Amino acid sequence: MVSDKITAAEQNLLHVYNRFPVAWERGEGVYLYDTEGKKYLDFAAGIAVTGLGYSNHKLQDALKSQIDKICHISNLYYHENCGDAAAALNKASGMERVFFTNSGTEAIEGALKAARKYAYTKENGRFEFIAMENSFHGRSIGAVSVTGTASYREPFEPLLPTVHFATYNDLDSVKALVNDKTCAIILEPLQGEGGIHPATKEFMEGIRALCDEQDILMICDEIQCGMGRTGFMFAWQEYGVKPDIMTMAKAIGNGIPVGAFAMTEKVAEYSMKAGDHGSTYGGNPLACMAVKTVLEIFEEEQIVAHVNEVSSYLSQKLEELVQKYDCIKERRGKGLIQGIELTKPVGEVVKKALDAGLVIISAKGNTIRFVPPLIVEKQHIDEMIEKLEIALN
Ligand SMILES: *Cc1c(COP(=O)(O)O)cnc(C)c1O
Repeated sequence: MVSDKITAAEQNLLHVYNRFPVAWERGEGVYLYDTEGKKYLDFAAGIAVTGLGYSNHKLQDALKSQIDKICHISNLYYHENCGDAAAALNKASGMERVFFTNSGTEAIEGALKAARKYAYTKENGRFEFIAMENSFHGRSIGAVSVTGTASYREPFEPLLPTVHFATYNDLDSVKALVNDKTCAIILEPLQGEGGIHPATKEFMEGIRALCDEQDILMICDEIQCGMGRTGFMFAWQEYGVKPDIMTMAKAIGNGIPVGAFAMTEKVAEYSMKAGDHGSTYGGNPLACMAVKTVLEIFEEEQIVAHVNEVSSYLSQKLEELVQKYDCIKERRGKGLIQGIELTKPVGEVVKKALDAGLVIISAKGNTIRFVPPLIVEKQHIDEMIEKLEIALN
């Protein structure tokens, strides 16, 4: 557990996190080690970030060699890692233009700006956004403005006045809000932070159709549910509908801070041009080396196929727990982004799990969120269930 030295220095930080009483030292595969040398099975992946787990040698070597050459040049100059990383992302997503950011929040900001610029160029009089209740899109004023959770919003109001909230998976509630000022509809194909709620096929298809009818842009936030997590490279790919703009972050850099928003050529043609947007660090050679290498590893190691191989086992094991324990209401989610909703306080279970050597996190609505590194094997799922049962008892 946390040493005195760490506790004292911690007082210098702004206290905006309810931190767990543990300090990590290193990771190996799907395991984390604390500063006392205790080993933990990791089913949180730094909040769905370290999809390839810890200490992936190919990624480490690529990053080290890039550090030895150059980390930063500013975006006034082109670096081939940037083009390579964008090409790899576009190949995986079917999008055509990428802008790299430093975080998910910035990717959301960029996506909102890109949608506004599209409408501005078209002079179609559209500037409003429709977002979803229970959504999470980040912590800047723009991102909080489209986030549908009151506690994240209220202390910072007034926020953008041009956002309206619909009920997730209720197409009629979206239709009721659409008008000739609607510029874009933003949603997560699977709400992560909001408690692991996947979109229905009818909802995704219905939104796509609404957008097509009226030249409204569909923005999919893939920051948490993307990069193989649902058993598809990007969650929207399961639904047979394609967004106009999508946001990425978390797992695309496996821990190197990087995000991106991407769009189709059709949107790019009317959207941001030189001078409209920028970032000093965004997509620097180190960050793009991470993205490029992560995507190479995804192909070489067939990560998405692996997710599909192991995830039904996770679903099955969690369903067994639902049957066995009265304190578990239901299982939700798919692939390696799943949750169980509890009838007792989730915080206590998460803390007890940590004591038992299992790292899990919660999500809204008393939900335990399982977002392990995508490289987990069945034996790790068994080990997780064993430790979770200790925490549930
Ligand atoms: C984490 C997250 C964000 C914000 O990303 P940051 O990198 O923390 O800024 C936005 N949208 C979703 C769906 C997320 O899960």
